[in-house]
Amino acid sequence: MVNEDKVCCMCNEHKKFLSRVNTGNNYYCISCIAKINKSGMKYWKPCTDVEFFESMLSHMKKGKNRKSTNMFSSLKEQFEKFENDERDDSKSTD
Ligand SMILES: [Zn+2]
Repeated sequence: MVNEDKVCCMCNEHKKFLSRVNTGNNYYCISCIAKINKSGMKYWKPCTDVEFFESMLSHMKKGKNRKSTNMFSSLKEQFEKFENDERDDSKSTD
């Protein structure tokens, strides 16, 4: 992939090789990537692919657990919650 119209978002320089390190649209040149990695900053951490997929996986796992629980009890829970919400609403409007 050629990024001729792109500049490194760290040094704002046109470089032959720019890469997107995270899932965002920011391009970084190799020397800046090396600099950041060497500095030990957690610069990539908030938006790395790994973190993204890990959080997605844990979400999926949670969803599975919820589904495997007794459907009737979860329905009952929902109704109870609904009733409580209604009560709260009538209280607040009073
Ligand atoms: Zn750079």
